[in-house]
Amino acid sequence: MTTGRGVPDGMTAPAWMVRLAAEAGKDLADAPARDVIEWAAETFGNRVCVTSSMNDAVVVHLAASVKPGIDVIFLDTGYHFPETIGTRDAVRAGYRVNLINVTPARTVAEQDAELGPRLYGRNPDLCCYLRKIVPLERALGPYDAWITGIRREETSARSDTQVVAWDARRGVVKVNPLARWTSKDTYRYLTEHDIPTHPLFEQGYTSIGCAPCTRATKTGEAGRAGRWWWETNAPKECGMHCAIETGGFEHELRALLGEKEE
Ligand code: SF4
Repeated sequence: MTTGRGVPDGMTAPAWMVRLAAEAGKDLADAPARDVIEWAAETFGNRVCVTSSMNDAVVVHLAASVKPGIDVIFLDTGYHFPETIGTRDAVRAGYRVNLINVTPARTVAEQDAELGPRLYGRNPDLCCYLRKIVPLERALGPYDAWITGIRREETSARSDTQVVAWDARRGVVKVNPLARWTSKDTYRYLTEHDIPTHPLFEQGYTSIGCAPCTRATKTGEAGRAGRWWWETNAPKECGMHCAIETGGFEHELRALLGEKEE
């Protein structure tokens, strides 16, 4: 991966990027979200994108106000609620962004035919790997950095999220401008800027992913308790932001496809 911004002599681009991320992580640790996005836009130009699950449009709104026309990646798993697709379409129509709809290699019907129906119920980690992780990593190929909307408060697995960090797995700088935000900060921003919220929030869905793997939460439950609700003692993560398995999923995929291990 190259940066195109004058990599110092004697350093490979990745090493330079690692150092850049480490320094920015320190310098911007307490910076306002807008300043963090401005740094990313100035540093990476058109080689930075935003990823959004369309739970809300806060990070998209912020990024569009700093860098109109910025690329926004939406992972269209084929399992989203119609309301999520509606939110995506409202963002595409209402914000100055270039929305990129990214789909998995297999449609839901093709996955059902090849790997059996309802893979999400039998092996959600593999389903997320095929429908989110692989498409994400393919989509990040043209970029040096990605901006996310994750917050430390969301889960224990996200509690140490850095504002800027090196994402070694993907070979890009990961920018998390909302890392320090609380849910109250989010609500305040949504209200102040009159940003439409996901319709299912009003029905008790405090975190919204794919329809088969999301239910509304009950009073007193953690915000992501409704994600993969049947799992206990699970990280409530799909692997995009926190590693959920170190061994990879190719062997599981080959087994389901009936191919022999080498
Ligand atoms: Fe599959 Fe559920 Fe993951 Fe969506 S959230 S990719 S349906 S396991």
